[in-house]
Amino acid sequence: MQERTSLPVGARHPQGVPLPDVLQSVVSQIMEVGSRVQPFSVESVEKAPRIRDAKLFHSVCPYCAVGCSLNVYVKDGKVIDIEGDPNSPINRGTLCPKGSATFQYTVNPSRLTQVLYRAPYSDHWETKSLDWAMEQIAQRVKKTRDETFVERLPDGREVNHTLGIASLGGATLDVEENYLMKKLFSGGFGIVSIENQARI
Ligand code: SF4
Repeated sequence: MQERTSLPVGARHPQGVPLPDVLQSVVSQIMEVGSRVQPFSVESVEKAPRIRDAKLFHSVCPYCAVGCSLNVYVKDGKVIDIEGDPNSPINRGTLCPKGSATFQYTVNPSRLTQVLYRAPYSDHWETKSLDWAMEQIAQRVKKTRDETFVERLPDGREVNHTLGIASLGGATLDVEENYLMKKLFSGGFGIVSIENQARI
């Protein structure tokens, strides 16, 4: 049997024995088909990562003092994705569950954009203006502070505090907001009970 020199080494029996002609022919056809330019569907060609052509902005996760770096992708004036920055020496592209949810906090159809107020004993929410809400909060904080403010304890120690107001913040309050809250509520109003998730 004559060995066909056009076949690759793989077309031979592992021990060097030439393959039968019919088998060599099949192997040749397979090799030829495999070497062709592969066809792609239109859908395959048009597939692309969602951040293709997006503009990249670097930012910092606002939620705690670790300061993880973020890549914010913007397309057509809208934020389309937020990911950890792989070049950051702090987080190396990773984000904790809170940080990795930054995009969902920012772009979310369920996000409330109006003040909702439920009056005492009411069974429904009312939409109010931000000015109305700010005025209500200011008046109630002032009234409660005036009624509960303690300058000195019975033993004479000066405390200048109120135990009648508390502040409970959520994870979406950022570092700067927490700083301002602590400064105003503690130093300004004398509120003792201030708590927030983002205080690593
Ligand atoms: S909240 Fe998480 S992702 Fe954000 S800075 Fe802190 S550790 Fe990093």
